[in-house]
Amino acid sequence: MDPFRVHILGCGSALPTQRHYPSAQIVECRGKLFMVDCGEGTQLQLRYCHVRFTKISAVFISHLHGDHCLGLPGMLSTFGLLGRTARIAVYAPGELENVLKAQMQLVCPGLEYEIDFHAIDTTRQATIYQDRSLTVDTIPLEHRVKCCGFLFREKPAQPHIRRDMADYYGIPVSQFNNIKAGADWTAPDGTLVKNAMLTTPAEPPRSYAYCSDTRYIASLHEQLKGVSTIYHESTYGQDNIQRAEKYYHSTARQAAQVARDAGAGQLLLGHYSSRYENEDILLEEAREVFENCRLSEEMAVFDV
Ligand SMILES: [Zn+2]
Ligand SMILES: [Zn+2]
Repeated sequence: MDPFRVHILGCGSALPTQRHYPSAQIVECRGKLFMVDCGEGTQLQLRYCHVRFTKISAVFISHLHGDHCLGLPGMLSTFGLLGRTARIAVYAPGELENVLKAQMQLVCPGLEYEIDFHAIDTTRQATIYQDRSLTVDTIPLEHRVKCCGFLFREKPAQPHIRRDMADYYGIPVSQFNNIKAGADWTAPDGTLVKNAMLTTPAEPPRSYAYCSDTRYIASLHEQLKGVSTIYHESTYGQDNIQRAEKYYHSTARQAAQVARDAGAGQLLLGHYSSRYENEDILLEEAREVFENCRLSEEMAVFDV
């Protein structure tokens, strides 16, 4: 199976600590690389995790708090220094467009690649990107400013041809695409061979939901039904639940409730408050609700 994985570049929240970088991730799906959020320090983190800068084709910004977008101008400027010519798409709340363009104009005029800016509506669910292998939908979230998450979903793959059966019936390779698309096979003697005999089903499509930042939304799981992996912010533990409510953040337990209600495969915790010296308590509290939880950490790579 082609890799579908998440590289964590930063999973801290707004205040800097010695342990975490602000939010940034690379989603790698079938050979393509997408950046999700781009806090300060992201380009250094990219260096450390040996991601090929040139392969990043699009950046998705959840909201315009500094810990999610201040790394963008620096990274785009570096792309220019590295001689990038391929355009890059930026999906973000519309208010960023003019600021970003002015900034780029000021600090690196004459960029040799284009920034394709796509203003996103964070208030509704919509498909904002698609290519041959996947789609990306917005996930409306509730934060102090306009904010949405992103749902990366593989498109269903075609079934596999059973080579033993194809050889047995002498089916030419030129017919394989038809058979993958569902056709039966008629042997030269007129025998009809049903498609189900000739193929094995494709692996079920995988999906990844990035949900940061948000307060707990009791209905969020409805959009996330059956998602393979959810990253849900878990800024606080239950000891700070009031703070979570006040600042429109979530606790680890609330993140776990979302994953449980969605029937997710696994939950990645992240966006940790600087108040915690380590995140064991967050993991513990989340696991009381949803067993398959893991703590994000810088440079970790998770299969979706
Ligand atoms: Zn944040
Ligand atoms: Zn925020």
